Parts: sequence; structure tokens; C-alpha cells
Amino acid sequence: MEPKLSARQDHLLSALRNAETELSGQDLHAQLRNSDTPMGLATVYRHLRQLQQWGLVRCRHLPSGEALFAPTERDDHHLTCVDCGSTQRLAHCPVHALELPPQEMGGFLPLFHTLEFFGLCPDCQRRQGRA
Ligand SMILES: [Zn+2]
Ligand SMILES: [Zn+2]
Repeated sequence: MEPKLSARQDHLLSALRNAETELSGQDLHAQLRNSDTPMGLATVYRHLRQLQQWGLVRCRHLPSGEALFAPTERDDHHLTCVDCGSTQRLAHCPVHALELPPQEMGGFLPLFHTLEFFGLCPDCQRRQGRA
């Protein structure tokens, strides 16, 4: 059952679904500034939090602290460099077919998963003298 979204929440979710990449709260704020439903940055974050609570939107944090949002049905995973913060999307989800044991779920309803690898990109390995 989909929760009843307000016009603004619907707008934010559509903007995330139509975007090719993840968007920050600032990106969304800037994108909606010229639309027919502009909203302040605090309002953007408040609605994003609500969308997260409904399991419709996910959030991940870069090493810089920047938060990036994406719709949960997009099964994307990333390799993120802990040094320069560059982030690269994996072409396939490595755990897509993973089955959760029903006897351990205790009635929990899974909506989505996150999986992120942290490490060093080739440039940073060279700069650190590791490669
Ligand atoms: Zn790097
Ligand atoms: Zn996945």
C-alpha cells in the first residue's frame, strides 16, 4: 500500500525518479526553484525525511558529509574512495538474488537494501604510494 503523498512529496519523488543520478537536498531545492512548486531547503529536507520513513527514498552519505538521495526502487550500489570521495556506480547489484531466511525475519517487511564499498581509487592509491 502506497502512502498518500502530498503534492510536494509527490514532486520531490518524481524529481528523484526522473534524475539520472542521485541528488542532494541542494540539487532538489535548486531544481524546484523554477518549477510551479518551489520550496525552501528546510521543507525539502523535511519531506525527504518523510519519504525515507515510508521506504520510498534512500539516502547515502559521501565521505565529505554530503547526503545524496535516490528512489529506493533503483538498485544502485557504489564504490566510494575514502581519500578523494570520488564515487563510482557498480553495473550490477551483487546481492540482488540474496534470500533472507524467513524464520529470522520476525515479521519484518524488507523494502530495500543498501550496499556500499569504501576503498581507494587508482589515483589515490598512486598518490599514497600503494600502487
Ligand atoms: Zn580517490
Ligand atoms: Zn542491490
